[in-house]
Amino acid sequence: MPTERLYYKDPYLRTFEATVLSVEALEGEKSAVTLDATAFYPEGGGQPADTGKIRGKDGTLIVEWTEDRGGEIVHIGKIDGVISVGERVTGEIDWDRRYLIMRTHTAAHILMHAVSRLLEHVDIAGSGLSVGSGRLDFAASITRDQLPAIEEEANKIVEMDAEVRVHVFSREEAARLLESYGSHLGPAHGGLSEIRVIEIVGVGADACGGTHVARTSEVGRIRITKRKSKGRGVVRLEFQVTD
Ligand SMILES: [Zn+2]
Repeated sequence: MPTERLYYKDPYLRTFEATVLSVEALEGEKSAVTLDATAFYPEGGGQPADTGKIRGKDGTLIVEWTEDRGGEIVHIGKIDGVISVGERVTGEIDWDRRYLIMRTHTAAHILMHAVSRLLEHVDIAGSGLSVGSGRLDFAASITRDQLPAIEEEANKIVEMDAEVRVHVFSREEAARLLESYGSHLGPAHGGLSEIRVIEIVGVGADACGGTHVARTSEVGRIRITKRKSKGRGVVRLEFQVTD
């Protein structure tokens, strides 16, 4: 049964209640627990998995990893005590870590838009997010000389305090909004009937399944820390977010 994804309804949800659907013993004294609903974000789309705790009446799962198995979200870690199928539990995600990931993730979108505003619309060849830092591979020739202007443009978008809006669109609606910002849907979204679109109002829009902050000012300062040519016309920018 697919798990209800509470982080889509409210990315700021830190604690929640749910019912345990399964508990499976894994190697290394670890267990895999599924719930009917969760606020834990599973690793995917370049965004790291959430960590935290799931507490039952007789035990606690220390969640070290969360993954998506065909729509079912699995919480993995060690259980201190016992967690039983059918019981009500309270989940609590490691909020400081997740909030920094949300800021970092939103910063990645802002950096893409900053490059598109300064150069032209550019496609992303790859990306990876960590806690407070990330990397973006641009299919564009970005020179070292352009980095200060890109960083300045990104921080201008932060200072705009623009609203970050989430839409769930049909393919046609998603394509229309992206085109209105001079962008387009990538080939990865070919088979989907419903597409989540993250719009930074007045700035740009991208298809994305991750969690983001509600306004760009929450991101803090964006700093480009490294530029590396990956060959074949791809340039990697690494960045950090700071307060
Ligand atoms: Zn995103």
